[in-house]
Amino acid sequence: MKKILILGGGTAGTMMANKLRKELSREEWNITIVDRDKYHYYQPGFLFIPFGIYKQQDVVKPKADFIPLGVDFIVSEIEKIIPENNQVVLKEEGKTLTYDYLIIATGTKTCPEETQGLTGELWNKNVFEFYTPQGAQKLYEFFKTWEGGTLVMSIAEQPIKCPVAPLEFVFLADAFFTERGMRDKVNIVYVTPLSGAFTKPRASRMLGSLLQEKNIKVVTDFYIEKVDNENKKIVSYDGKEVPFDVMTIVPVNMGDDVIINSGLADDLGFVPTNKYTLQSLNHKNVFVLGDATNIPTSKAGSVAHFASEILIENIMSAIENRPLMAKFDGHANCYIETGFGKGSLIDFNYETEPLPGTFPFPGIGPFGLLRNSKMNHYGKVMFRWIYWHILLKGKEMPIESHMTMAGKCKQC
Ligand SMILES: Cc1cc2nc3c(=O)[nH]c(=O)nc-3n(C[C@H](O)[C@H](O)[C@H](O)COP(=O)(O)OP(=O)(O)OC[C@H]3O[C@@H](n4cnc5c(N)ncnc54)[C@H](O)[C@@H]3O)c2cc1C
Repeated sequence: MKKILILGGGTAGTMMANKLRKELSREEWNITIVDRDKYHYYQPGFLFIPFGIYKQQDVVKPKADFIPLGVDFIVSEIEKIIPENNQVVLKEEGKTLTYDYLIIATGTKTCPEETQGLTGELWNKNVFEFYTPQGAQKLYEFFKTWEGGTLVMSIAEQPIKCPVAPLEFVFLADAFFTERGMRDKVNIVYVTPLSGAFTKPRASRMLGSLLQEKNIKVVTDFYIEKVDNENKKIVSYDGKEVPFDVMTIVPVNMGDDVIINSGLADDLGFVPTNKYTLQSLNHKNVFVLGDATNIPTSKAGSVAHFASEILIENIMSAIENRPLMAKFDGHANCYIETGFGKGSLIDFNYETEPLPGTFPFPGIGPFGLLRNSKMNHYGKVMFRWIYWHILLKGKEMPIESHMTMAGKCKQC
């Protein structure tokens, strides 16, 4: 039997396991997937937990429900990848697995310890994060009794997964405190290392004016050096200060330790990857999908999905000794929850920034690009169902994996 080994059974790894099992003969190919966690989290749902819209149980299901028959699932910490020997060492009983092809899909993790003072005495008391279900739950508990003050949302460093999630957080906070009748007691401040609300100019303008409309203050170009726990403020490398009563932060995002410990990582722990073919730059029989890559597009589930359609083609080519012809264009598509039952949508790739216009979605859409509408909010709400029932199971979606210009307006 020839072997494909998938490291990480999150969004990317699970989609690939499903796609590969459909393509490869069971008589010839063994497929194994390894993950430390038995449970699969729908991470976009973490955003809604602090505001009581979702509960923790709404965003979690057993991983085994999504791994297809005919794929071996091992629950274990992955300790080391030895690509020179086509081997992976697991913590469980020190077991070593071998492979013909390896797919790395170990994602990214938050590293609060990377920022001075962040895990100090205010951590989980007045300083929170919502990128883990536990962190989001703690913030929910805090908001239940909070009587108001300055709420700071800050981003430690880019890249982070789902770069629009912190913006969605402040939009939802504005709606949450308005609906509770205490918005006048809450000063919301958005602190970012970017020079605007978002990385791309048109989206940044649209989202920036929405922040202004909602009376959310924005502090740009802020590279956080430390959290001053005693005086409840954050301090930047160039000496700027932002005080807070409560702060949520997206800590530094890095690739997993196994990537770093195996000598496969760039400075942030991500795997150097060919941005078109998704092949590792250093090892021909290693491919990388999802947040674990260093490719220059958003770290998002939608990206993992579009890229998986390219990767399946390229893995089939590699197996059949053909050149890797399929090219990923960096396609990303993100609904942005903006509060009060509305949302926006951005669709872009390596070459094209998010543009206004419409996004065709057969049977349901179109959705409005860079518009604030109820329809886009429904798109976001619907996404959870699509995620569990279609995306993870590797089923076809009526959206092109490559970005299309249909409906987009360059002149608008
Ligand atoms: C708050 C929030 C909101 C988001 N909103 C959106 C959104 O609206 N739209 C969107 O498209 N994306 C969104 N995302 C991003 C999306 O969830 C991720 O980009 C996506 O899950 C990445 O998939 P992945 O498979 O690369 O990583 P993951 O799904 O994180 O999976 C990685 C897996 O690898 C396992 N693993 C890692 N290292 C090891 C090891 N050493 N041993 C064993 N197992 C290991 C982990 O346990 C995990 O299961 C959001 C994320 C967050 C946190």
